[in-house]
Amino acid sequence: MRHTMMRYELTLTSMFRRAAEHYSNTEIVSRKPDKSLDRRTFGDFDRRARQLASALRKAGCKKGDRVATLMWNHYAHLEAYFGIPIAGCVLHTLNLRLHPDEIAFIATHAEDRFVIVDDVLWPLFDKVRAKAKFDKVIVLRLTSAPLPAGTIDYEDFLNSGDASDPLPDLVEDDPMGLCYTSGTTGKPKGVCYSHRSIALHSLGASLSDTLGLSRRDTILPVVPMFHANAWGIPFAAIMIGAKMVMPGPHLDGESLLELFEKEKVTLAAGVPTIWLGILQALDKEPKRWSLTRDMRMVVGGSAAPESVIRGLDKHGLRVIHAWGMTETAPLGSVSHLAPHMDDWAEDDKYAHRAKQGIASPFVELRAVSDAGVVPRDGKSPGELEVRGAWVAGSYVPPSDENATKWTQDGWFKTGDVVTIDGGGCIKITDRTKDLIKSGGEWISSIDLENLIMGHPAVKEAAVVAVPHPKWDERPLAVVVLKDGAIASEADLRAFVAAKVAKFQVPDAFVFEATIPKTSAGKFLKSELREKYKAHKLG
Ligand code: AMP
Repeated sequence: MRHTMMRYELTLTSMFRRAAEHYSNTEIVSRKPDKSLDRRTFGDFDRRARQLASALRKAGCKKGDRVATLMWNHYAHLEAYFGIPIAGCVLHTLNLRLHPDEIAFIATHAEDRFVIVDDVLWPLFDKVRAKAKFDKVIVLRLTSAPLPAGTIDYEDFLNSGDASDPLPDLVEDDPMGLCYTSGTTGKPKGVCYSHRSIALHSLGASLSDTLGLSRRDTILPVVPMFHANAWGIPFAAIMIGAKMVMPGPHLDGESLLELFEKEKVTLAAGVPTIWLGILQALDKEPKRWSLTRDMRMVVGGSAAPESVIRGLDKHGLRVIHAWGMTETAPLGSVSHLAPHMDDWAEDDKYAHRAKQGIASPFVELRAVSDAGVVPRDGKSPGELEVRGAWVAGSYVPPSDENATKWTQDGWFKTGDVVTIDGGGCIKITDRTKDLIKSGGEWISSIDLENLIMGHPAVKEAAVVAVPHPKWDERPLAVVVLKDGAIASEADLRAFVAAKVAKFQVPDAFVFEATIPKTSAGKFLKSELREKYKAHKLG
């Protein structure tokens, strides 16, 4: 027998239409660079996102064309999150933390046609556009700075569109978004999401036992909209009709706490570095802010330290620890206490919450070692592999990693090392990929090594992660100089700083006579990590 159900396309257009129909008075509050607040409604968002979609099509953007953003989290980025995909175009969020050359490489690889840029990011974009070509540059003016020559004002661009233009019919397999993530070997690689994957991800992320999002929530994504879709939160929040509070560029503990209090935020999401800043501010002045009781903090991007979970609990803030990747849209697993854990000892509960949790529905996880799939005994380590409804099946070609990151039987190899217990809960214990995560953003050790080895005085260089109390990890470079050559730490620092984003410059350069190697001649990074784990960083 064949099923008798309708074919209904799972698209952002469907989520978008519903939001305007049911939630037109729900608020969207954005904090501008000068810290003043901009207040709008879903009704405004609906009209303006439609105008954007219409303007893009009138300007010649066709189905599948890439439209990039270089923006902080605010109302206009939200308009782009929907306005671009509902026009049939692909939203490409450029990461403003990267070096301009890297952004230019990514925009060129993605063949971005148009770009929307915050005026406050113009100094960065000016360097990008020297190396990447865009058909149109649209500037959102958040300050009174004059419009740069040869660009279009965002408001003028919107006004060239007509909110009553019909939206194109899309199917769920149409592409809608593009995010690049650091390559382990060399260049960044792109993941292109379908409407279906993001529609299902929005449903999955909203479930009570995942992030538990509701129309009654006031949601503040601290996680940037240029990183892994801000964990899919903007899409899900529009779908369910939650009030949105967008923080703009001020992300320090006090600035965020002010906003949590003022807008009565019930759920915020960000990397551990952010929550550490908040915890320090709260520990210093516990009575200064009056926050929503049992406010939830989604923590991901790096492991949520148990001390942060405990610390925030003391202030009545409940951490929800989640694991995910750009390649998994990103939500993969979430850690919650199961009913049978209610009478566990407090310490055991905290230890459980610091694990990365169980797979969300429509996502499957397994751990694999050289001997095959490892038993779920909570002890045996293996590389975490994932498959599911919102997991990438390849990178945007061409990518060297398309041949190596997927298994023959269709699983994606995450590069994270885990143990999995009998309940299916994963615990990340290590990483096989040669990347360092600092404050939620990646640094490629291999790129740094190649760069440092390009210095005329350097014979060999290995870069490893050193634990850091604020940034989680920071890079340290172990350098062997050529016989008779001279270079100081300051020389090498200046050499690297000229080529990479500031946050990617190693905190320390240490000089050694040799670097330990594996039998295959590769740097023995585990030994270096162990040796330097307590190294005092600058
Ligand atoms: P990204 O693609 O930049 O979002 O980074 C994904 C990677 O971040 C994962 O493969 C992990 O290495 C790391 N990661 C994300 N969430 C967690 C977490 N909760 N605990 C430990 N590592 C995490």
